[in-house]
Amino acid sequence: LKELLVKKFGIINAGILVIFLNIMACTHYETRIWDRKMMNESLPCKGLSENYPAGTVRVFPLKSGNLQIRLSGALNLADTHCGNLTDKDLIVPVYSYLIHNERFGWLMIDTGCTKEYSGRLYGPMTGFLVPEVMAPTVLKPGEDIETLLSGFGLIPEDIGMIFFTHLHLDHTSGLSAFNQEIVLVAGKGESSVVIPYMVEPRHFKKGQKLYFIDFNSDEAIDKDGFKTIDLLGDGSLWALSTPGHSKGHVSYLAFTENGPILIAGDAVILNDSLTLGAGPGSYSRDMNQAQATLEGLLLLKQKNPGMRIWAGHDEILP
Ligand SMILES: [Zn+2]
Repeated sequence: LKELLVKKFGIINAGILVIFLNIMACTHYETRIWDRKMMNESLPCKGLSENYPAGTVRVFPLKSGNLQIRLSGALNLADTHCGNLTDKDLIVPVYSYLIHNERFGWLMIDTGCTKEYSGRLYGPMTGFLVPEVMAPTVLKPGEDIETLLSGFGLIPEDIGMIFFTHLHLDHTSGLSAFNQEIVLVAGKGESSVVIPYMVEPRHFKKGQKLYFIDFNSDEAIDKDGFKTIDLLGDGSLWALSTPGHSKGHVSYLAFTENGPILIAGDAVILNDSLTLGAGPGSYSRDMNQAQATLEGLLLLKQKNPGMRIWAGHDEILP
């Protein structure tokens, strides 16, 4: 947004505008620090009927709509590894991940899109700056999060907790389908602001609580160059601090009966980042930090060749 304002109004006027926008900006949620102990009481447990090994989770990727983006936003084309790749429009998938754990029941990572996005490029969002800060969404029939959950015999109220990779609007577009009480968790430093009349996403409900994962807390441990937290206490689902694309970006390492899966979120937007070694592009808050995070993930993959990495907006690799 800052870049756009500079282009339209010049650097001095844009600076004044940014100060004004910061004064106007607010959030609709209240924040708390996340603590694993709070999970015992707060989660309903509607189990899967089949058993699976202890210390693992079941993971089901749900493709929930598409985004129209620019390649240069998703991939740093200035990186020498990109050769002479040129910028272009791209249509990419949006994901939510449904997770099942024997003890805690159904959880989700990111939210996909609610049916409010069907036939509406910006869903419930209002404000004249929305098209500047959000890529348009195209939702096909049956791709809304409500319908996708119903495929598992679930309704939004059956989900106990939503972990976010980050709070960019394309990752919170399904949130309005869930009730006020759902436990929401994101990395400390994330924010999703409302700027009255300019950007009103209508994703968070007023007074909703957002719990921050603090990678500087006692629960965090250093593993393979990443700060990590064992979210469920049984080693089945780990949060990894992967900043760069956003300030408090989190990737999730899920141990399944078929091996580990790294749900990278937008630490890896496209599979090209994995093959070329070039990090996320201009949609990132800090491209250098995003590149360092990507290189850390590639090293982790090298040490654990059996680990699959699922990019935030690309085909899911087998
Ligand atoms: Zn995204």
